[in-house]
Amino acid sequence: MADATRLDALIVGAGFAGLYMLHKLRGMGFAARAVEAGSGVGGTWYWNRYPGARCDVESMFYCYQFDDGLSRDWEWTERYPAQPEILRYANHVADRFDLWPDISLNTRIVSAVHDEDAARWRVATDTGEAWLARYCIMATGCLSAANRPDFDGLDEFAGRVFHTGRWPHETVDFAGRRVGVVGTGSSAVQAIPEIAKEAAHVTVFQRTASYVVPANNRPLDPAEQADIKARYPELRAAARKTFGGFAVGIARQSALAVSEDECRETLARAWDEGGIGFLNAYRDFGFDEAANRRAQDFVRRKIRETVQDPETAAKLLPRHVIGCKRLSLGDDYYAAFNRPNVALVPLADDGIGRILPDGLTAGGTRFRFDDLVLATGFDAMTGALARIDIRGRGGIALAEAWEAGPRMYLGLMSNGFPNLFAITGPGSPSVLSNMMPTIEHHVEWIAECLGYLRGNGISGIEPSLDAQDAWVEHGNEVASKTLRYSCSSWYLGANVPGKPRVFMPYIGGMPSYMETCAAVAADGYRGFDLTPG
Ligand code: NAP
Repeated sequence: MADATRLDALIVGAGFAGLYMLHKLRGMGFAARAVEAGSGVGGTWYWNRYPGARCDVESMFYCYQFDDGLSRDWEWTERYPAQPEILRYANHVADRFDLWPDISLNTRIVSAVHDEDAARWRVATDTGEAWLARYCIMATGCLSAANRPDFDGLDEFAGRVFHTGRWPHETVDFAGRRVGVVGTGSSAVQAIPEIAKEAAHVTVFQRTASYVVPANNRPLDPAEQADIKARYPELRAAARKTFGGFAVGIARQSALAVSEDECRETLARAWDEGGIGFLNAYRDFGFDEAANRRAQDFVRRKIRETVQDPETAAKLLPRHVIGCKRLSLGDDYYAAFNRPNVALVPLADDGIGRILPDGLTAGGTRFRFDDLVLATGFDAMTGALARIDIRGRGGIALAEAWEAGPRMYLGLMSNGFPNLFAITGPGSPSVLSNMMPTIEHHVEWIAECLGYLRGNGISGIEPSLDAQDAWVEHGNEVASKTLRYSCSSWYLGANVPGKPRVFMPYIGGMPSYMETCAAVAADGYRGFDLTPG
Protein backbone atom coordinates (compact mmCIF):
# COMPACT_ATOMS: atom_id res chain seq x y z
CA MET A 1 0.00 0.00 0.00
CA ALA A 2 3.07 2.21 0.16
CA ASP A 3 2.40 3.54 -3.32
CA ALA A 4 -1.32 4.05 -2.80
CA THR A 5 -2.65 7.02 -4.74
CA ARG A 6 -3.99 9.74 -2.47
CA LEU A 7 -7.41 11.16 -3.05
CA ASP A 8 -9.97 13.24 -1.24
CA ALA A 9 -12.78 10.98 -2.32
CA LEU A 10 -12.93 7.58 -3.90
CA ILE A 11 -16.28 6.83 -5.47
CA VAL A 12 -17.20 3.20 -6.01
CA GLY A 13 -19.25 2.87 -9.17
CA ALA A 14 -19.87 4.96 -12.28
CA GLY A 15 -23.60 4.56 -12.66
CA PHE A 16 -25.82 7.61 -12.37
CA ALA A 17 -24.88 8.07 -8.69
CA GLY A 18 -21.14 7.78 -9.27
CA LEU A 19 -21.13 10.03 -12.33
CA TYR A 20 -22.92 12.90 -10.63
CA MET A 21 -20.93 12.49 -7.39
CA LEU A 22 -17.71 12.74 -9.38
CA HIS A 23 -18.90 15.79 -11.27
CA LYS A 24 -20.09 17.48 -8.11
CA LEU A 25 -16.96 16.88 -6.05
CA ARG A 26 -14.61 17.83 -8.86
CA GLY A 27 -16.52 21.06 -9.24
CA MET A 28 -15.85 21.77 -5.55
CA GLY A 29 -12.13 21.26 -6.02
CA PHE A 30 -11.91 17.84 -4.37
CA ALA A 31 -9.55 15.26 -5.84
CA ALA A 32 -12.04 12.53 -6.66
CA ARG A 33 -12.09 9.37 -8.76
CA ALA A 34 -14.82 6.93 -9.68
CA VAL A 35 -13.82 3.29 -9.93
CA GLU A 36 -16.08 1.06 -11.98
CA ALA A 37 -16.12 -2.72 -12.45
CA GLY A 38 -17.74 -2.53 -15.88
CA SER A 39 -16.00 -1.57 -19.08
CA GLY A 40 -18.33 1.40 -19.42
CA VAL A 41 -20.42 3.81 -17.37
CA GLY A 42 -24.15 3.53 -16.69
CA GLY A 43 -24.35 1.01 -13.83
CA THR A 44 -27.72 -0.77 -13.96
CA TRP A 45 -28.10 0.20 -17.58
CA TYR A 46 -24.65 -1.06 -18.45
CA TRP A 47 -25.33 -4.53 -17.03
CA ASN A 48 -29.02 -5.10 -17.73
CA ARG A 49 -29.00 -5.56 -21.51
CA TYR A 50 -31.53 -8.36 -21.71
CA PRO A 51 -34.06 -8.23 -24.57
CA GLY A 52 -36.81 -5.73 -23.79
CA ALA A 53 -34.91 -3.97 -20.96
CA ARG A 54 -36.58 -0.65 -20.41
CA CYS A 55 -37.06 1.73 -17.49
CA ASP A 56 -40.53 1.92 -15.98
CA VAL A 57 -40.16 5.56 -14.96
CA GLU A 58 -41.03 7.98 -17.73
CA SER A 59 -37.97 9.18 -19.60
CA MET A 60 -38.75 12.88 -19.13
CA PHE A 61 -38.45 12.28 -15.38
CA TYR A 62 -35.81 9.58 -15.40
CA CYS A 63 -32.96 12.00 -15.96
CA TYR A 64 -30.76 14.42 -14.09
CA GLN A 65 -32.13 17.79 -13.09
CA PHE A 66 -28.91 19.45 -11.96
CA ASP A 67 -27.94 21.02 -15.27
CA ASP A 68 -30.38 23.07 -17.32
CA GLY A 69 -28.31 22.74 -20.48
CA LEU A 70 -28.35 18.96 -20.20
CA SER A 71 -32.12 18.95 -19.60
CA ARG A 72 -32.61 21.25 -22.58
CA ASP A 73 -30.34 19.45 -25.05
CA TRP A 74 -31.08 15.80 -24.42
CA GLU A 75 -34.01 14.47 -26.44
CA TRP A 76 -35.79 11.29 -25.39
CA THR A 77 -37.54 9.28 -28.06
CA GLU A 78 -40.10 7.23 -26.13
CA ARG A 79 -42.36 7.59 -23.12
CA TYR A 80 -40.30 4.93 -21.32
CA PRO A 81 -36.63 4.82 -22.26
CA ALA A 82 -35.15 1.56 -23.51
CA GLN A 83 -31.83 0.39 -22.07
CA PRO A 84 -29.67 1.43 -25.07
CA GLU A 85 -31.03 4.96 -24.94
CA ILE A 86 -30.40 5.30 -21.20
CA LEU A 87 -26.89 4.00 -21.71
CA ARG A 88 -26.33 6.60 -24.46
CA TYR A 89 -27.54 9.25 -22.02
CA ALA A 90 -25.06 8.08 -19.35
CA ASN A 91 -22.24 8.24 -21.90
CA HIS A 92 -23.40 11.66 -23.04
CA VAL A 93 -23.19 12.88 -19.45
CA ALA A 94 -19.67 11.49 -19.06
CA ASP A 95 -18.65 13.22 -22.34
CA ARG A 96 -20.44 16.46 -21.67
CA PHE A 97 -18.87 16.97 -18.24
CA ASP A 98 -15.52 15.50 -19.28
CA LEU A 99 -15.67 12.87 -16.55
CA TRP A 100 -13.64 10.16 -18.30
CA PRO A 101 -10.16 11.22 -17.06
CA ASP A 102 -11.29 10.58 -13.49
CA ILE A 103 -12.99 7.23 -14.05
CA SER A 104 -11.15 3.90 -13.80
CA LEU A 105 -13.05 1.29 -15.80
CA ASN A 106 -12.65 -2.49 -15.64
CA THR A 107 -11.63 -2.14 -12.03
CA ARG A 108 -13.48 -3.80 -9.18
CA ILE A 109 -13.04 -2.63 -5.61
CA VAL A 110 -12.33 -5.67 -3.47
CA SER A 111 -11.68 -4.08 -0.09
CA ALA A 112 -12.00 -0.81 1.75
CA VAL A 113 -10.29 -0.72 5.13
CA HIS A 114 -10.38 2.23 7.47
CA ASP A 115 -6.92 3.25 8.65
CA GLU A 116 -7.49 5.02 11.94
CA ASP A 117 -4.00 6.50 12.23
CA ALA A 118 -4.12 7.99 8.77
CA ALA A 119 -7.84 8.80 9.09
CA ARG A 120 -8.17 7.49 5.56
CA TRP A 121 -9.75 4.59 3.70
CA ARG A 122 -7.30 2.15 2.15
CA VAL A 123 -9.02 0.85 -0.92
CA ALA A 124 -7.76 -2.06 -3.00
CA THR A 125 -8.84 -3.22 -6.45
CA ASP A 126 -8.75 -6.48 -8.35
CA THR A 127 -6.22 -4.91 -10.70
CA GLY A 128 -3.74 -4.40 -7.88
CA GLU A 129 -4.25 -0.67 -7.63
CA ALA A 130 -4.50 0.99 -4.24
CA TRP A 131 -6.02 4.24 -3.13
CA LEU A 132 -5.79 6.18 0.10
CA ALA A 133 -8.87 8.34 0.37
CA ARG A 134 -10.26 10.55 3.08
CA TYR A 135 -13.80 9.76 1.97
CA CYS A 136 -15.12 6.60 0.44
CA ILE A 137 -18.46 6.95 -1.31
CA MET A 138 -20.38 3.85 -2.26
CA ALA A 139 -22.30 4.50 -5.44
CA THR A 140 -22.76 0.78 -5.88
CA GLY A 141 -26.47 0.71 -6.70
CA CYS A 142 -29.43 -0.95 -5.04
CA LEU A 143 -30.03 -3.62 -7.66
CA SER A 144 -26.57 -4.44 -8.90
CA ALA A 145 -25.45 -7.64 -7.18
CA ALA A 146 -27.00 -10.43 -9.26
CA ASN A 147 -28.90 -13.11 -7.35
CA ARG A 148 -27.78 -16.33 -8.97
CA PRO A 149 -29.51 -19.18 -7.14
CA ASP A 150 -27.34 -22.08 -6.15
CA PHE A 151 -29.36 -24.68 -8.08
CA ASP A 152 -28.09 -28.23 -7.86
CA GLY A 153 -26.44 -29.19 -11.11
CA LEU A 154 -26.25 -25.66 -12.52
CA ASP A 155 -22.62 -26.12 -13.50
CA GLU A 156 -23.52 -29.24 -15.46
CA PHE A 157 -25.94 -27.46 -17.79
CA ALA A 158 -24.61 -27.99 -21.30
CA GLY A 159 -26.22 -24.96 -22.97
CA ARG A 160 -25.82 -21.24 -22.45
CA VAL A 161 -26.76 -19.69 -19.09
CA PHE A 162 -27.66 -16.01 -18.90
CA HIS A 163 -28.56 -13.82 -15.94
CA THR A 164 -30.73 -10.85 -16.93
CA GLY A 165 -28.61 -8.55 -14.76
CA ARG A 166 -25.35 -9.73 -16.39
CA TRP A 167 -26.44 -9.94 -20.00
CA PRO A 168 -23.70 -10.30 -22.67
CA HIS A 169 -22.77 -7.28 -24.75
CA GLU A 170 -23.05 -9.24 -27.97
CA THR A 171 -26.46 -9.94 -29.45
CA VAL A 172 -27.79 -13.24 -28.16
CA ASP A 173 -29.44 -15.24 -30.90
CA PHE A 174 -32.33 -17.39 -29.67
CA ALA A 175 -33.58 -18.36 -33.13
CA GLY A 176 -34.52 -22.01 -33.20
CA ARG A 177 -33.59 -22.50 -29.55
CA ARG A 178 -35.64 -23.87 -26.69
CA VAL A 179 -35.25 -21.51 -23.74
CA GLY A 180 -36.00 -22.03 -20.05
CA VAL A 181 -36.64 -18.86 -18.04
CA VAL A 182 -36.57 -18.96 -14.25
CA GLY A 183 -38.35 -16.03 -12.62
CA THR A 184 -41.33 -13.83 -13.36
CA GLY A 185 -40.31 -10.48 -11.84
CA SER A 186 -39.90 -7.19 -13.74
CA SER A 187 -36.90 -8.37 -15.76
CA ALA A 188 -38.64 -11.58 -16.88
CA VAL A 189 -41.83 -9.65 -17.63
CA GLN A 190 -39.90 -7.58 -20.15
CA ALA A 191 -37.65 -10.33 -21.49
CA ILE A 192 -40.13 -13.19 -21.99
CA PRO A 193 -42.24 -11.59 -24.75
CA GLU A 194 -39.09 -10.57 -26.64
CA ILE A 195 -37.37 -13.94 -26.33
CA ALA A 196 -40.62 -15.69 -27.33
CA LYS A 197 -40.69 -13.74 -30.61
CA GLU A 198 -37.42 -15.34 -31.60
CA ALA A 199 -37.06 -18.66 -29.83
CA ALA A 200 -38.51 -21.98 -30.94
CA HIS A 201 -39.97 -22.48 -27.47
CA VAL A 202 -39.93 -20.78 -24.08
CA THR A 203 -40.71 -22.52 -20.78
CA VAL A 204 -41.31 -20.07 -17.94
CA PHE A 205 -40.71 -21.36 -14.41
CA GLN A 206 -42.81 -19.30 -12.03
CA ARG A 207 -42.35 -19.37 -8.27
CA THR A 208 -44.72 -16.45 -7.59
CA ALA A 209 -47.17 -15.04 -10.10
CA SER A 210 -46.65 -11.31 -10.75
CA TYR A 211 -48.98 -8.39 -11.03
CA VAL A 212 -48.16 -6.69 -14.32
CA VAL A 213 -49.79 -3.44 -15.41
CA PRO A 214 -49.39 -1.97 -18.89
CA ALA A 215 -46.64 0.54 -19.53
CA ASN A 216 -48.48 1.89 -22.54
CA ASN A 217 -45.20 2.85 -24.08
CA ARG A 218 -45.26 5.10 -27.17
CA PRO A 219 -42.98 7.43 -29.10
CA LEU A 220 -42.60 10.85 -27.51
CA ASP A 221 -44.11 13.58 -29.57
CA PRO A 222 -41.59 16.48 -29.94
CA ALA A 223 -44.30 19.01 -29.05
CA GLU A 224 -45.11 17.11 -25.86
CA GLN A 225 -41.42 16.94 -25.03
CA ALA A 226 -40.98 20.67 -25.59
CA ASP A 227 -44.00 21.40 -23.44
CA ILE A 228 -42.71 19.27 -20.56
CA LYS A 229 -39.29 20.90 -20.81
CA ALA A 230 -40.83 24.36 -20.73
CA ARG A 231 -42.65 23.37 -17.55
CA TYR A 232 -39.78 21.42 -15.98
CA PRO A 233 -39.34 23.76 -13.01
CA GLU A 234 -42.96 23.50 -11.89
CA LEU A 235 -43.32 19.79 -12.78
CA ARG A 236 -40.13 18.83 -11.00
CA ALA A 237 -41.05 20.92 -7.95
CA ALA A 238 -44.45 19.19 -7.89
CA ALA A 239 -42.80 15.76 -8.21
CA ARG A 240 -40.59 16.54 -5.22
CA LYS A 241 -43.74 16.90 -3.13
CA THR A 242 -45.02 13.43 -4.03
CA PHE A 243 -44.31 10.31 -2.00
CA GLY A 244 -41.86 8.82 -4.48
CA GLY A 245 -40.65 11.89 -6.35
CA PHE A 246 -42.57 10.74 -9.42
CA ALA A 247 -44.49 12.95 -11.78
CA VAL A 248 -47.74 11.34 -10.60
CA GLY A 249 -48.87 11.85 -7.04
CA ILE A 250 -51.12 9.65 -4.93
CA ALA A 251 -54.87 10.39 -4.97
CA ARG A 252 -56.43 11.57 -1.72
CA GLN A 253 -59.50 9.39 -1.85
CA SER A 254 -59.92 5.95 -0.30
CA ALA A 255 -60.78 3.11 -2.68
CA LEU A 256 -63.43 2.09 -0.15
CA ALA A 257 -65.13 5.49 -0.22
CA VAL A 258 -66.48 4.78 -3.70
CA SER A 259 -68.67 2.01 -5.12
CA GLU A 260 -67.01 -1.05 -6.63
CA ASP A 261 -68.11 0.13 -10.08
CA GLU A 262 -66.60 3.56 -9.63
CA CYS A 263 -63.37 2.03 -8.32
CA ARG A 264 -63.22 -0.26 -11.36
CA GLU A 265 -63.79 2.66 -13.73
CA THR A 266 -61.03 4.68 -12.10
CA LEU A 267 -58.68 1.71 -12.27
CA ALA A 268 -59.62 1.11 -15.90
CA ARG A 269 -58.57 4.69 -16.69
CA ALA A 270 -55.30 4.23 -14.80
CA TRP A 271 -54.77 0.91 -16.60
CA ASP A 272 -55.27 2.53 -20.00
CA GLU A 273 -52.97 5.40 -19.07
CA GLY A 274 -50.31 2.83 -18.10
CA GLY A 275 -47.49 3.10 -15.61
CA ILE A 276 -46.70 2.39 -11.98
CA GLY A 277 -49.08 5.23 -11.09
CA PHE A 278 -51.80 2.55 -11.30
CA LEU A 279 -51.53 2.00 -7.57
CA ASN A 280 -51.74 5.73 -6.89
CA ALA A 281 -55.33 5.85 -8.11
CA TYR A 282 -56.48 5.66 -4.48
CA ARG A 283 -54.60 6.56 -1.36
CA ASP A 284 -55.00 3.35 0.61
CA PHE A 285 -53.88 0.51 -1.65
CA GLY A 286 -50.65 0.37 0.31
CA PHE A 287 -52.28 0.34 3.75
CA ASP A 288 -55.72 -1.21 3.70
CA GLU A 289 -56.26 -4.84 2.76
CA ALA A 290 -59.86 -4.38 1.64
CA ALA A 291 -58.87 -1.47 -0.58
CA ASN A 292 -55.93 -3.43 -1.90
CA ARG A 293 -58.20 -6.38 -2.78
CA ARG A 294 -60.10 -4.14 -5.18
CA ALA A 295 -56.92 -3.47 -7.16
CA GLN A 296 -55.93 -7.15 -6.97
CA ASP A 297 -59.33 -8.22 -8.31
CA PHE A 298 -59.08 -5.72 -11.13
CA VAL A 299 -55.74 -7.07 -12.34
CA ARG A 300 -56.82 -10.70 -11.95
CA ARG A 301 -59.86 -9.95 -14.12
CA LYS A 302 -57.55 -8.40 -16.75
CA ILE A 303 -55.39 -11.53 -16.71
CA ARG A 304 -58.43 -13.76 -17.28
CA GLU A 305 -59.57 -11.50 -20.12
CA THR A 306 -56.14 -11.50 -21.77
CA VAL A 307 -55.01 -15.11 -21.47
CA GLN A 308 -57.04 -17.40 -23.69
CA ASP A 309 -56.37 -20.70 -21.99
CA PRO A 310 -58.28 -20.63 -18.67
CA GLU A 311 -55.86 -23.07 -17.05
CA THR A 312 -52.85 -20.93 -17.92
CA ALA A 313 -54.73 -17.82 -16.84
CA ALA A 314 -55.50 -19.43 -13.48
CA LYS A 315 -51.81 -20.23 -12.98
CA LEU A 316 -50.87 -16.64 -13.75
CA LEU A 317 -53.20 -15.17 -11.12
CA PRO A 318 -51.20 -13.61 -8.31
CA ARG A 319 -52.56 -14.18 -4.80
CA HIS A 320 -50.52 -11.78 -2.71
CA VAL A 321 -51.14 -8.15 -1.85
CA ILE A 322 -50.65 -6.00 -4.94
CA GLY A 323 -47.73 -3.60 -4.56
CA CYS A 324 -46.21 -5.71 -1.80
CA LYS A 325 -43.63 -6.87 -4.29
CA ARG A 326 -42.54 -4.26 -6.79
CA LEU A 327 -45.24 -3.79 -9.42
CA SER A 328 -44.04 -4.83 -12.89
CA LEU A 329 -44.77 -2.93 -16.07
CA GLY A 330 -45.19 -4.65 -19.41
CA ASP A 331 -47.40 -4.25 -22.43
CA ASP A 332 -47.39 -7.81 -23.68
CA TYR A 333 -46.44 -10.10 -20.81
CA TYR A 334 -49.76 -11.88 -20.23
CA ALA A 335 -50.49 -11.98 -23.97
CA ALA A 336 -47.19 -13.80 -24.51
CA PHE A 337 -48.80 -16.84 -22.88
CA ASN A 338 -51.25 -17.01 -25.81
CA ARG A 339 -48.38 -17.90 -28.10
CA PRO A 340 -48.14 -21.57 -28.99
CA ASN A 341 -44.41 -21.54 -28.19
CA VAL A 342 -44.71 -20.30 -24.57
CA ALA A 343 -45.45 -22.65 -21.67
CA LEU A 344 -45.91 -21.76 -18.02
CA VAL A 345 -44.73 -24.05 -15.24
CA PRO A 346 -45.73 -22.98 -11.74
CA LEU A 347 -43.18 -24.28 -9.25
CA ALA A 348 -44.35 -26.18 -6.20
CA ASP A 349 -42.95 -25.37 -2.75
CA ASP A 350 -39.87 -27.48 -3.43
CA GLY A 351 -39.02 -25.17 -6.37
CA ILE A 352 -36.50 -26.17 -9.00
CA GLY A 353 -35.36 -29.72 -8.35
CA ARG A 354 -32.12 -30.06 -10.27
CA ILE A 355 -30.55 -28.56 -13.35
CA LEU A 356 -29.66 -31.24 -15.88
CA PRO A 357 -27.31 -30.93 -18.86
CA ASP A 358 -30.33 -30.48 -21.14
CA GLY A 359 -32.95 -28.88 -18.89
CA LEU A 360 -34.21 -29.28 -15.36
CA THR A 361 -36.53 -31.18 -13.11
CA ALA A 362 -39.28 -29.56 -11.09
CA GLY A 363 -42.05 -31.28 -9.15
CA GLY A 364 -40.80 -34.61 -10.46
CA THR A 365 -41.24 -33.59 -14.11
CA ARG A 366 -38.41 -33.21 -16.57
CA PHE A 367 -38.24 -30.15 -18.83
CA ARG A 368 -35.83 -29.90 -21.76
CA PHE A 369 -34.32 -26.75 -23.22
CA ASP A 370 -31.11 -25.48 -24.84
CA ASP A 371 -30.57 -22.16 -23.05
CA LEU A 372 -31.29 -21.13 -19.47
CA VAL A 373 -32.20 -17.55 -18.56
CA LEU A 374 -32.01 -16.70 -14.88
CA ALA A 375 -34.31 -13.74 -14.34
CA THR A 376 -33.81 -14.25 -10.64
CA GLY A 377 -33.14 -10.68 -9.59
CA PHE A 378 -30.67 -9.21 -7.17
CA ASP A 379 -29.28 -9.37 -3.69
CA ALA A 380 -30.88 -5.98 -3.33
CA MET A 381 -29.64 -2.94 -1.41
CA THR A 382 -26.95 -4.67 0.64
CA GLY A 383 -25.53 -7.20 -1.85
CA ALA A 384 -23.14 -4.89 -3.63
CA LEU A 385 -21.74 -3.61 -0.32
CA ALA A 386 -21.49 -7.08 1.18
CA ARG A 387 -19.39 -8.24 -1.77
CA ILE A 388 -16.67 -5.72 -0.86
CA ASP A 389 -14.58 -6.43 2.22
CA ILE A 390 -15.41 -3.22 4.09
CA ARG A 391 -13.78 -2.79 7.48
CA GLY A 392 -14.37 0.14 9.74
CA ARG A 393 -13.10 1.24 13.14
CA GLY A 394 -11.34 -1.52 15.06
CA GLY A 395 -11.36 -3.68 11.94
CA ILE A 396 -15.07 -4.47 12.22
CA ALA A 397 -16.49 -5.89 9.02
CA LEU A 398 -19.60 -4.25 7.59
CA ALA A 399 -20.98 -7.74 6.99
CA GLU A 400 -20.67 -8.42 10.72
CA ALA A 401 -22.10 -5.07 11.80
CA TRP A 402 -25.08 -5.75 9.52
CA GLU A 403 -25.49 -9.41 10.36
CA ALA A 404 -29.06 -8.86 11.56
CA GLY A 405 -29.84 -6.44 8.73
CA PRO A 406 -28.43 -3.15 7.44
CA ARG A 407 -28.08 -0.31 9.92
CA MET A 408 -27.59 3.19 8.56
CA TYR A 409 -28.50 6.67 9.69
CA LEU A 410 -30.68 8.22 6.98
CA GLY A 411 -29.44 5.52 4.62
CA LEU A 412 -26.28 7.60 4.23
CA MET A 413 -23.75 6.44 6.82
CA SER A 414 -23.22 3.63 9.29
CA ASN A 415 -21.84 3.84 12.82
CA GLY A 416 -18.31 2.42 13.01
CA PHE A 417 -17.52 3.42 9.43
CA PRO A 418 -16.35 7.03 9.55
CA ASN A 419 -16.25 9.02 6.32
CA LEU A 420 -17.91 6.17 4.40
CA PHE A 421 -21.07 7.25 2.61
CA ALA A 422 -23.61 5.28 0.61
CA ILE A 423 -25.72 6.84 -2.10
CA THR A 424 -29.29 5.52 -1.79
CA GLY A 425 -28.26 3.15 0.98
CA PRO A 426 -30.62 1.00 3.06
CA GLY A 427 -32.74 3.27 5.24
CA SER A 428 -33.28 5.83 2.48
CA PRO A 429 -36.29 5.98 0.10
CA SER A 430 -34.12 4.72 -2.78
CA VAL A 431 -35.95 1.93 -4.61
CA LEU A 432 -39.35 3.19 -3.48
CA SER A 433 -38.76 6.45 -5.28
CA ASN A 434 -37.69 7.77 -8.66
CA MET A 435 -34.00 6.88 -8.50
CA MET A 436 -32.73 9.85 -10.49
CA PRO A 437 -33.92 12.70 -8.21
CA THR A 438 -33.22 10.47 -5.22
CA ILE A 439 -29.64 10.00 -6.34
CA GLU A 440 -29.28 13.72 -6.96
CA HIS A 441 -30.61 14.47 -3.50
CA HIS A 442 -28.04 12.18 -1.85
CA VAL A 443 -25.17 13.40 -4.01
CA GLU A 444 -25.97 17.00 -3.16
CA TRP A 445 -26.37 16.24 0.54
CA ILE A 446 -23.03 14.42 0.65
CA ALA A 447 -21.27 17.15 -1.35
CA GLU A 448 -22.64 19.84 0.96
CA CYS A 449 -21.56 17.78 3.95
CA LEU A 450 -18.00 17.40 2.64
CA GLY A 451 -17.91 21.15 1.94
CA TYR A 452 -19.02 21.79 5.51
CA LEU A 453 -16.38 19.48 6.96
CA ARG A 454 -13.66 21.10 4.86
CA GLY A 455 -14.85 24.61 5.72
CA ASN A 456 -14.96 23.87 9.43
CA GLY A 457 -11.70 21.98 9.82
CA ILE A 458 -13.41 18.68 10.57
CA SER A 459 -11.63 15.51 9.53
CA GLY A 460 -14.20 12.87 10.36
CA ILE A 461 -17.94 12.27 10.39
CA GLU A 462 -19.82 9.25 11.63
CA PRO A 463 -23.37 8.76 12.85
CA SER A 464 -23.85 8.21 16.57
CA LEU A 465 -25.21 4.84 17.56
CA ASP A 466 -28.24 6.51 19.17
CA ALA A 467 -29.18 8.46 16.07
CA GLN A 468 -28.69 5.41 13.90
CA ASP A 469 -30.75 3.14 16.17
CA ALA A 470 -33.54 5.70 16.33
CA TRP A 471 -33.60 6.02 12.54
CA VAL A 472 -33.65 2.25 11.98
CA GLU A 473 -36.42 1.90 14.55
CA HIS A 474 -38.39 4.71 12.91
CA GLY A 475 -37.96 3.05 9.50
CA ASN A 476 -39.21 -0.29 10.84
CA GLU A 477 -42.16 1.37 12.53
CA VAL A 478 -43.27 3.20 9.38
CA ALA A 479 -42.86 0.04 7.28
CA SER A 480 -44.88 -2.02 9.76
CA LYS A 481 -47.90 0.20 9.11
CA THR A 482 -47.93 -0.75 5.44
CA LEU A 483 -48.90 -4.00 3.72
CA ARG A 484 -45.33 -4.56 2.58
CA TYR A 485 -44.52 -7.17 5.20
CA SER A 486 -47.19 -9.51 3.92
CA CYS A 487 -45.17 -11.17 1.14
CA SER A 488 -41.68 -12.46 0.43
CA SER A 489 -40.19 -9.56 -1.50
CA TRP A 490 -36.66 -8.49 -2.21
CA TYR A 491 -37.43 -5.32 -0.20
CA LEU A 492 -37.34 -7.69 2.78
CA GLY A 493 -34.38 -9.69 1.50
CA ALA A 494 -36.68 -12.71 1.19
CA ASN A 495 -35.37 -13.70 -2.25
CA VAL A 496 -31.89 -14.48 -0.93
CA PRO A 497 -31.64 -17.57 1.29
CA GLY A 498 -30.38 -16.69 4.77
CA LYS A 499 -30.75 -12.93 4.38
CA PRO A 500 -32.30 -11.31 7.48
CA ARG A 501 -35.92 -10.29 7.01
CA VAL A 502 -35.72 -6.51 7.36
CA PHE A 503 -37.58 -3.95 5.27
CA MET A 504 -34.59 -2.17 3.76
CA PRO A 505 -35.76 1.02 2.02
CA TYR A 506 -37.28 3.90 3.98
CA ILE A 507 -41.00 4.06 3.32
CA GLY A 508 -41.84 7.40 4.96
CA GLY A 509 -41.87 9.21 1.60
CA MET A 510 -39.49 11.58 -0.14
CA PRO A 511 -40.83 14.92 1.16
CA SER A 512 -40.48 14.10 4.86
CA TYR A 513 -37.20 12.30 4.25
CA MET A 514 -35.68 15.26 2.41
CA GLU A 515 -36.93 17.60 5.13
CA THR A 516 -35.23 15.47 7.78
CA CYS A 517 -31.95 15.38 5.85
CA ALA A 518 -32.04 19.16 5.40
CA ALA A 519 -32.85 19.76 9.08
CA VAL A 520 -30.04 17.43 10.20
CA ALA A 521 -27.53 19.36 8.06
CA ALA A 522 -28.87 22.76 9.11
CA ASP A 523 -28.48 21.70 12.71
CA GLY A 524 -24.72 21.17 12.30
CA TYR A 525 -25.18 17.50 11.30
CA ARG A 526 -27.34 16.50 14.21
CA GLY A 527 -26.90 12.84 15.10
CA PHE A 528 -23.41 12.69 13.64
CA ASP A 529 -20.16 12.74 15.62
CA LEU A 530 -17.70 15.16 14.05
CA THR A 531 -13.95 14.85 14.62
CA PRO A 532 -12.00 18.09 14.52
CA GLY A 533 -8.58 18.18 12.92
P1 NAP B 1 -37.15 -9.95 -9.00
O1 NAP B 1 -38.24 -8.98 -9.04
O2 NAP B 1 -36.51 -10.25 -7.70
O3 NAP B 1 -37.69 -11.28 -9.67
C1 NAP B 1 -36.94 -12.45 -9.60
C2 NAP B 1 -37.81 -13.59 -10.01
O4 NAP B 1 -37.07 -14.80 -9.88
C3 NAP B 1 -39.02 -13.75 -9.12
O5 NAP B 1 -40.09 -14.22 -9.87
C4 NAP B 1 -38.55 -14.79 -8.11
O6 NAP B 1 -39.59 -15.49 -7.50
C5 NAP B 1 -37.73 -15.67 -9.00
N1 NAP B 1 -36.74 -16.42 -8.28
C6 NAP B 1 -35.71 -15.95 -7.56
N2 NAP B 1 -35.00 -16.95 -7.02
C7 NAP B 1 -35.62 -18.10 -7.42
C8 NAP B 1 -35.37 -19.45 -7.18
N3 NAP B 1 -34.36 -19.86 -6.40
N4 NAP B 1 -36.18 -20.37 -7.74
C9 NAP B 1 -37.21 -19.98 -8.52
N5 NAP B 1 -37.51 -18.69 -8.78
C10 NAP B 1 -36.71 -17.76 -8.23
O7 NAP B 1 -35.95 -9.53 -9.98
P2 NAP B 1 -36.04 -8.67 -11.32
O8 NAP B 1 -37.14 -9.12 -12.15
O9 NAP B 1 -34.68 -8.65 -11.90
O10 NAP B 1 -36.39 -7.24 -10.81
C11 NAP B 1 -35.77 -6.68 -9.66
C12 NAP B 1 -36.11 -5.23 -9.56
O11 NAP B 1 -35.35 -4.51 -10.52
C13 NAP B 1 -37.55 -4.89 -9.88
O12 NAP B 1 -38.41 -5.15 -8.83
C14 NAP B 1 -37.42 -3.42 -10.22
O13 NAP B 1 -37.29 -2.64 -9.07
C15 NAP B 1 -36.10 -3.41 -10.98
N6 NAP B 1 -36.37 -3.59 -12.40
C16 NAP B 1 -36.96 -2.55 -13.04
C17 NAP B 1 -37.26 -2.65 -14.35
C18 NAP B 1 -37.91 -1.52 -15.02
O14 NAP B 1 -37.67 -0.39 -14.71
N7 NAP B 1 -38.76 -1.75 -15.96
C19 NAP B 1 -36.99 -3.81 -15.06
C20 NAP B 1 -36.36 -4.86 -14.40
C21 NAP B 1 -36.06 -4.73 -13.05
P3 NAP B 1 -40.24 -14.92 -6.13
O15 NAP B 1 -41.08 -13.75 -6.51
O16 NAP B 1 -40.99 -16.06 -5.60
O17 NAP B 1 -39.09 -14.51 -5.24
